[in-house]
Amino acid sequence: MKTNIVLIPGDGIGPEIVSAAKKVLDRVCQKFGHDFQYREALLGGASIDACGIPLTDETIDAAKSADAVLMGSIGGDTATSPWYQLEPSKRPEAGLLRIRKELNLFANLRPAYLYSQLKDACPLRADIIGDGFDMLIMRELTGGLYFGERKTYEQDGLQTAIDTLSYNENEIRRIAVKGFEIARKRRKKVTSVDKANVLDSSRLWRKVVEEVAADYSDVELEHMLVDNCAMQLVRDPKQFDVILTENMFGDILSDEASMVTGSIGMLSSASLNETKFGLYEPSHGSAPDIAGQDKANPIATILSAAMLLRYSLDLDAEANAVEQAVQKVLENGWRTVDIMSDGCACVGTQKMGELIAEAI
Ligand code: NAD
Repeated sequence: MKTNIVLIPGDGIGPEIVSAAKKVLDRVCQKFGHDFQYREALLGGASIDACGIPLTDETIDAAKSADAVLMGSIGGDTATSPWYQLEPSKRPEAGLLRIRKELNLFANLRPAYLYSQLKDACPLRADIIGDGFDMLIMRELTGGLYFGERKTYEQDGLQTAIDTLSYNENEIRRIAVKGFEIARKRRKKVTSVDKANVLDSSRLWRKVVEEVAADYSDVELEHMLVDNCAMQLVRDPKQFDVILTENMFGDILSDEASMVTGSIGMLSSASLNETKFGLYEPSHGSAPDIAGQDKANPIATILSAAMLLRYSLDLDAEANAVEQAVQKVLENGWRTVDIMSDGCACVGTQKMGELIAEAI
């Protein structure tokens, strides 16, 4: 397959982790006979330094004409970096928010997978962990409370604030379709999370999800109230495959789900639009404290590249090969410093990338 991938190294550890992930993609090309064309683009602090703004039209155009984007991370030390002396709309994060908007990335996917080799990092009891868990939180990213009308005003002498949670049926339908499509690539179960016992927006959410489910009779659907879901994530995380939910619930639940895996350097993510296009990035930030030291764990970025193969390019066998290579390298006792444990060998960012590439 011939395909165009834009690489956005970004700031801090970004260039190191993207370089390690590219080694893995190069190996996939070699092994499976593909031709991936890469183009590098600037975003965040790197773009401010080079062009004076955190996101240029050039980067937007490059991303729009690509099949997918693989990003490192953006931002600097918020206390010391000169980027944070700038007004908020000119800071690195403004570039990230704008590119998500420009690309209409309404679906955010965050897998929470517990590697058996890293069970010690999981804060849950061994009997709850069992053989591990493997779930994916699919969060609506461009609607709901964070984008609704809001104001702060004074009423009857009291300061009052209002936020609005609104969804229309199309916004719900398109994310539900993504959720069911992705469940088909996994264990074929969708847990739709809402607060339908209280909220009108949730009752509409539930109705539309059920309509969509009618087209996916091979996928099991269950509904769960968000408060129960927060509890179930720590009581029995094994029960979940795809958790489908609105923006704010997803924001909170995805952090909870990722915490139970224990290791920030292992958490991948994807943001998708209505087409196959997606922007793939680790869930962690740019870790300025360890930037440039070959200490960063590149696995979250490598697993994000695996998601790119699966969801944007439909290369499921290749994605599996990358994930299995990660598993194999961990089984063989290789670790970066953040996931280091007794009896294992500590390697740097680039070496970890090479080991995973060789294991494919
Ligand atoms: P962070 O995730 O960068 O770092 C938190 C801690 O985790 C640090 O101790 C760091 O060393 C460690 N860490 C993170 N990733 C690691 C990895 N791959 N391997 C080993 N250790 C890792 O969060 P922060 O310190 O709050 O933020 C730093 C910068 O990153 C800020 O400018 C913030 O705005 C930005 N940020 C960017 C994104 C993004 O690009 N999507 C996301 C979150 C934060």
